[in-house]
Amino acid sequence: MVASSGLAAMVRYGAGKNPVLRLALHTLWGQKCYWCNAPKDYNDTQIDHIIPRSQCATDRAALLHACRLPADFDVDDPRNLAPICAPCNGSAGKGAADLSDTPMLLRKLRQADALRPKVIQMVTEFGNSRRTAESLLRAIETDLNDPRARAAFTAHAPGVVQKLAMLDESLADYHTSRIVEFALGLSEPLEVELLLNARGRTTLTIVEDVYGRPVIEVLGEGLPTLIELAQARAQAEFNDESAEGGPMYAGPPTTHFVEIQIDAVDFDRQGPILDVSFAGTFTGSYSLSVVQDSMDGIGLDELQGDVELTGRFTLRATWDGPTNDGAPDIVDCDEATWDVEGYLTR
Ligand SMILES: [Zn+2]
Repeated sequence: MVASSGLAAMVRYGAGKNPVLRLALHTLWGQKCYWCNAPKDYNDTQIDHIIPRSQCATDRAALLHACRLPADFDVDDPRNLAPICAPCNGSAGKGAADLSDTPMLLRKLRQADALRPKVIQMVTEFGNSRRTAESLLRAIETDLNDPRARAAFTAHAPGVVQKLAMLDESLADYHTSRIVEFALGLSEPLEVELLLNARGRTTLTIVEDVYGRPVIEVLGEGLPTLIELAQARAQAEFNDESAEGGPMYAGPPTTHFVEIQIDAVDFDRQGPILDVSFAGTFTGSYSLSVVQDSMDGIGLDELQGDVELTGRFTLRATWDGPTNDGAPDIVDCDEATWDVEGYLTR
């Protein structure tokens, strides 16, 4: 009997399980390259070490220190692994990136750390159900450029999908992904990724067919409110009347980075009233100038604040029956739940 910590220790890069580990990472990271965020086929991904394995010892030590990680951090553990596409893994991709942008690396490491238990579970359970799991892995590894493999896939894959639906209909649903750009007065247009399952696609169709309104425009009307909520939250992090060392006030935040992914689009229809909701995740990175009054009232310290913000939100649009221009009667953003990390530099 292997203790669960022993099993966990076996799930590492290079432990002879790389195809299975790669499948787990590819699935759990949403079938996307973690670096460019583009949806990728399993066959087009590799395993990347977020903190590079190849770096010289001095560079790696500096990077670990900057990321507040211990010197003996295990780079081959799933908490440092993510699926990457070949272009991003090359010298023009991550190779050319500035890895001293620690907030960005920390975000990826946090994501890997959160997924780690599921990665371990998936790899471990693969070993417990070897025969079926191996056949399925072989199917996933199929090179669809080979005409014989293509013919076999066309003949037999529908049976697999049907079997999956027997287990749970929603499992046989598939997601499509669209990137939509919004000009919101930021330094560059905001790219929003829209992940749609069958329900989401139906929602878009209803809004567009019945209300004659591109749903994308409706979404765009709610985004400025979300962005303002996030900026206010970043600022609130350093507005602290009772801060140790004197009251602290933050100026308006400068936005470095905003990423929005909508992962659920849904509707609810009651008579003529239609409610549409867009739920998703928000990631933002800000810096602010912070001033602090000294306790004795003499002097003022200027500090720099950095904020990393992640959260979930819901945007809602409500129509009270079809209107002439198709515009919703109400567009609202529910208070998001934020996870905030703030750093002060003197
Ligand atoms: Zn990529």
